[in-house]
Amino acid sequence: MDQALDNTLNRWLTGPRVGALPALAELPAPRLSFEFFPPKTDALETQLWSCIRRLEPLAPSFVSVTYGAGGTTQARTHATVSRIVRETSLTPAAHLTCVGASREEVNAVAQSYWDAGVRHIVALRGDAPAGANGYEPHPGGYAYAADLVEGLKRVAPFEISVAAYPETHPTALNPQHDLDNLKRKIDAGATRAISQYFFDTSVYLNFLDRCAQAGITVPVVPGIMPVTNYAQAARFSAMCGASVPAWMGKLYEGLDEDAETRRMVSAVVAAEQVRLLQANGVDEFHFYTLNRPDLVYAIAHILGARPKTA
Ligand SMILES: Cc1cc2nc3c(=O)[nH]c(=O)nc-3n(C[C@H](O)[C@H](O)[C@H](O)COP(=O)(O)OP(=O)(O)OC[C@H]3O[C@@H](n4cnc5c(N)ncnc54)[C@H](O)[C@@H]3O)c2cc1C
Repeated sequence: MDQALDNTLNRWLTGPRVGALPALAELPAPRLSFEFFPPKTDALETQLWSCIRRLEPLAPSFVSVTYGAGGTTQARTHATVSRIVRETSLTPAAHLTCVGASREEVNAVAQSYWDAGVRHIVALRGDAPAGANGYEPHPGGYAYAADLVEGLKRVAPFEISVAAYPETHPTALNPQHDLDNLKRKIDAGATRAISQYFFDTSVYLNFLDRCAQAGITVPVVPGIMPVTNYAQAARFSAMCGASVPAWMGKLYEGLDEDAETRRMVSAVVAAEQVRLLQANGVDEFHFYTLNRPDLVYAIAHILGARPKTA
């Protein structure tokens, strides 16, 4: 037999085999959630609200609004979340961190969310403000996210989500310690974990297995980051401990000045990732929108989401 054909046959018979992705008709539409960040300027405010209006018809389970590093966006997060309550059909979740505030101050922010009709908090430790030398708990504050979850439960019966790290939090002592920490957050009252984004799907699926072995039974929802600016994503990923596979660098090679092609490549990468997850039984997805709706809308459509009419 021709050597090349022999090699091809051999690879087909012995190499990894990826089954066909399931037809959409066989699957119910997944549950979706979208993450936004609070705007700093009027122009960004307009961009955020056009993003919210574009994604609203997809009827996500909830939308979340981040809290700036070092607790710097408290007022803007609050204003955005409150406006979502007042002006949309969406269910908001407010991110809240332990950084730079006493327990009483954090509790007061939580109480003001409850009073504004917000029932869901994404409870985080947060990171040190820019320029600080690593994370230091505020004296009299909540030290870690697990403490915050416990404290929030005393303020009001919030629904609470927490962060999970398929590739381990960058400052964790080791993967097992980090997993034990996730378990503590769940035991303290969180009912959902949202994962840090990842690009290697098997990393997340292996993490789900480890969660199950550790007795974590709540949903660990994959955080999906559609990348449009590869160079920026690679820099940011290095800081938050998400690895960027070599194949991704290769895919974006030579596209630094070609935003249009990058967008098309990004749509393919993210669509392939979510369909692989869906084929492996994942039916809930959290999208880091970066306040840009188009790519997220397209990927949600590929997953089977369709706009709901009132
Ligand atoms: C879905 C998601 C949303 C996010 N949103 C925001 C946001 O809005 N604003 C923001 O500022 N940041 C946000 N972050 C980033 C997050 O704040 C950082 O990753 C932060 O460094 C850790 O937060 P955490 O809640 O995971 O912390 P924790 O769960 O408290 O863990 C932090 C680290 O401390 C370790 N640890 C926990 N408890 C102990 C202990 N008792 N002793 C020793 N070590 C311990 C853990 O293993 C881990 O390494 C988000 C992250 C994710 C994944």
